[in-house]
Amino acid sequence: MTTVRVVVGGAVFDRGRLLAARRSAPPSLAGRWELPGGKVEDGETPEQALERELREELGVEVAAMERIPGEWPLGPGLVLQVWTARLVSGEPQPLQDHDELRWLLPAQERQVDWLDQDRPAVAEAMRRLATG
Ligand code: C5P
Repeated sequence: MTTVRVVVGGAVFDRGRLLAARRSAPPSLAGRWELPGGKVEDGETPEQALERELREELGVEVAAMERIPGEWPLGPGLVLQVWTARLVSGEPQPLQDHDELRWLLPAQERQVDWLDQDRPAVAEAMRRLATG
């Protein structure tokens, strides 16, 4: 039996903007922008994993909201799923895995070089932000 691990990415919204995070590692991904998140651990729901990962990586509390439909392959045995989330408290800081963070308005979606696999979910997240 093959198990597929889920990586959960967060489309974090605050005051009409989407949070983008620039990866600092590994070298193949460094400099590209992503929806921050990480692997779902055994016994966790994806929503719990997202809230934990963003606490660890960015030092903020978020509340997961809705899943963005779809699933994007990341390589053998790994898929990306994305949830929207709202910032509950704190100001995001690049504590782990990232070296820069930016809040983007929908019109600024293409200001950063998103990882290819994140692009469909970013587009949908921006559509939701723009249409309220
Ligand atoms: O952040 P972490 O290293 O746990 O992510 C595991 C894998 O998921 C990495 O290979 C990364 O490329 C991928 N990922 C992604 N898009 C995201 C979050 C993670 O492609 N938004």
